[in-house]
Amino acid sequence: MKHIALIILLLLFGVAFVWAQESPERTKAMQAMEMQQDTLATSPQGPVAVPEPSEKAMRYYRSGNVLWVINVLWGLLVPAFFLFTGLSALIRDWVTRIGKKWFFILAAYFAIYMIFNYIIDWPLSYYQGYVRQHAYGLSNQTFNKWFGDSLKALLVGIITGSLFLWIPYLLLKKSPRRWWLYTSLAAIPVIFFVVMISPIWIAPLFNDFGPMKNKQLETKILALAEKAGIEGSRVYEVNKSVDTRAVNAYVTGFMGTKRIVLWDTIIEKLNEDELLFVMGHEMGHYVLGHVWKSVFFFSAFILVALYLAYRLTGGLIRRFQHKFGFSNLADIASLPLLILIFNVFMLVFSPILMGFSRYQEHEADRFGLEITQNNYAAAMAFVKLQQENLANPRPGWLYKLWRSSHPPLGERIEFCNTYRPWGEGMELKYGHLFRRSE
Ligand SMILES: [Zn+2]
Repeated sequence: MKHIALIILLLLFGVAFVWAQESPERTKAMQAMEMQQDTLATSPQGPVAVPEPSEKAMRYYRSGNVLWVINVLWGLLVPAFFLFTGLSALIRDWVTRIGKKWFFILAAYFAIYMIFNYIIDWPLSYYQGYVRQHAYGLSNQTFNKWFGDSLKALLVGIITGSLFLWIPYLLLKKSPRRWWLYTSLAAIPVIFFVVMISPIWIAPLFNDFGPMKNKQLETKILALAEKAGIEGSRVYEVNKSVDTRAVNAYVTGFMGTKRIVLWDTIIEKLNEDELLFVMGHEMGHYVLGHVWKSVFFFSAFILVALYLAYRLTGGLIRRFQHKFGFSNLADIASLPLLILIFNVFMLVFSPILMGFSRYQEHEADRFGLEITQNNYAAAMAFVKLQQENLANPRPGWLYKLWRSSHPPLGERIEFCNTYRPWGEGMELKYGHLFRRSE
């Protein structure tokens, strides 16, 4: 009975989530005001109006919410299926029959688990990543590219998982009472390592990275980087147009792997001033240390999640060990149980993670505005982002709380319209970080 109640509760949450995501009704006065702003926006001096989302964008938003709920439920049902059917224990039995070495058992179990998972997920991934993107005109990808990329991602997942999975399981074996603490401490260097190598080892597996073609623009970006205090960075252009029509850019890596990356789609859609603002935003992430701050924040998150797993799993295993087919968390067959608990934890606490991310994005916007001091270009960059990515500029509050890693575009455009301390003789928040050119 308790399980049915839980499922009904989750379903109710899902329905409430989809239902609450309609933007609040706008008053006629507000619409009239925005229309007036529309005429102002044609001149670079006036504030830029937040465009009304198209009918298509709203359909994309609504169906996206339904899909999100399905994904969340799916993320709980699949590991539960592995556990309660005994499939997880069955996989462990297979691999222990093939090999006796502890490390081999872990890696082989993990590979088989990932492959099963890939197959179960396939219809949903295919619909979301391929069919739906084409239906909304957001994708240029061929089926072969999509399918090839999904297999590569599976392979990368199996390899990285096998490389690191032994750490928590060794700690589980050696220290049944403190494994959660040691594992979260061990996670910090592992996450740093993955963040450091992924731009040079992983990202190029999926797309071609080359030097920027527009040398004049590259010079301007490098001059901006110099002003932001980022030295010796390199600018790359990546041919994302084979995959998507959406636009993006980022600064990534650490030390030697530090790089500025622009999707070729953003170079095509944005003008030079708009691109420089986007670059200023990305450099803000870098200069304000958002990468390492996020790593520590996420590690603290992992610590709490693993502690809860430590407290909860004992009781669950005692109660369901006949169904699960294992009696000890150090048994590799427990992996779906750990994944299940982690996914529940992510669902409950994602408002905190999202709030943290939105704060950083807002500060990066501020940094980008202060370093370029071009309100009009910044606001127009977000207008184009909204249109190209089919975004809803004013999502509902539940959406914002659970899903918005960035502030809603409506808020970002309004911030770009109004934030100009340099025009009012006030001090810049990040001015002390900028280098003056001689
Ligand atoms: Zn950002």
